[in-house]
Amino acid sequence: MALPPWPVHCFLLIMAVICAAATLRPHPPTVVIDPSLVERTQAVPEIASYEPAPLPTGAEFQLVAAEQPAPPLSSLGEPYDIVVRLSRGDTPGDVLDEIGIADDDRVAVIAALEQLLKKRRLASGEKLRLSLQPSADADDCPLLLSLQVRPEPEREYVITRQDDGSYDGDVTIYKVQPRIVRVATRRIGSLLASGVRAGAPADALREFIRALSYDVDFERELRSGAPFALLLEEGVTSDGLVARPGRLLAGELELAKRTVTVIAFTPQHGARQFYTPDGNSVVRAFLRTPMDASHISSPFGRRRHPILGYSRMHEGVDFAAPKGTPILAAGRGTVVRAGYYGGYGLYVELRHTASISTAYGHMSRLGRGIRPGVPVHQGQVIGYVGATGLATGPHLHYEFHRRGRAVNPLTQRASLRQHLVGRDMTRFAALVRQYRAQLRTAPLIGAAFR
Ligand SMILES: [Zn+2]
Repeated sequence: MALPPWPVHCFLLIMAVICAAATLRPHPPTVVIDPSLVERTQAVPEIASYEPAPLPTGAEFQLVAAEQPAPPLSSLGEPYDIVVRLSRGDTPGDVLDEIGIADDDRVAVIAALEQLLKKRRLASGEKLRLSLQPSADADDCPLLLSLQVRPEPEREYVITRQDDGSYDGDVTIYKVQPRIVRVATRRIGSLLASGVRAGAPADALREFIRALSYDVDFERELRSGAPFALLLEEGVTSDGLVARPGRLLAGELELAKRTVTVIAFTPQHGARQFYTPDGNSVVRAFLRTPMDASHISSPFGRRRHPILGYSRMHEGVDFAAPKGTPILAAGRGTVVRAGYYGGYGLYVELRHTASISTAYGHMSRLGRGIRPGVPVHQGQVIGYVGATGLATGPHLHYEFHRRGRAVNPLTQRASLRQHLVGRDMTRFAALVRQYRAQLRTAPLIGAAFR
């Protein structure tokens, strides 16, 4: 059957509106065709010429939903919303132009928007939410009812068309409040990548890894699949948008034989830093190993000397490393000896406190500016690995002296950390209890707000 195109067009348009209405109904209508309804629909003059009898089943279903008569086409169409992303180099004005908003309206909307944004520009990719109403007079010139943009989670700008056809701008401020959330996942690949995949901010993860690095030997202790959890405080708007990424409050990493927990805390007269749950600062006064890459080739204690051939006390720890590997000052101090020293070969001794000093032997050469009397900071290069003196191959011989006696450097860690005391410790202990519970119960990051 040959229908004139115009009624078909109108019918489809009305059907689309009805379809939309039907979708919004809370309960789907039953598939029954109401004859009175069909009559009413037929009464709309524009489609009166159309014979509705051979309607397909789908259309029958939708027709029942039309409880009010379709609006006459001479009025404005149903308003609808669209979301447009600003592409690179585009302004909101360009977007309105593309959609075909009338020139006068576009100018008024942009003026109102600019007044709200002041000098700021919208970034590319910013979302504009537009509410439009199709106009009957000019098919391709919709009316802009409102424009909404939220360049930051705290602020939403809305330009609304008034009854008199002018446009008014308004700002909605969303209050940002702290919310404690957690990330709980397993290490697959790097800790950083695993945490980011689970939704944690990279900065918080870097802080976590740094806090762990004083105590954890990542290469030997950390297995794949190790569970870890972070407790974070993020800033969330009243309607649930994250305005501030999560800051690390506490973190927990399960190793094969132990669980390491770090807690962020700001003492009364100090800067924010990480502590173990018993109140020791994770930052040590002395490095765990005075080198970046190394392995212990000979431990502290009695042993058979590889060159001298007889059993005697090994007064330090040997770290095997290729010749030329930088040797780092284990702690802040002053150089007291730098030069050849018998079986030690090229040797450096640092004094850290009145009772503590460290010594480094068999160097191939000294670090820049290393000579008796100069101060050094922790981690400064004081020399390079070699095999001078009584050495079978390149390694660092490292000694730790306490009140003039050599002690095992690897057991001197905990006693040299800063410890919380007094009121700080009371406050900290309460925080540890709270954080430990929240590490299990706080909502997971990305979980539904409210
Ligand atoms: Zn040695």
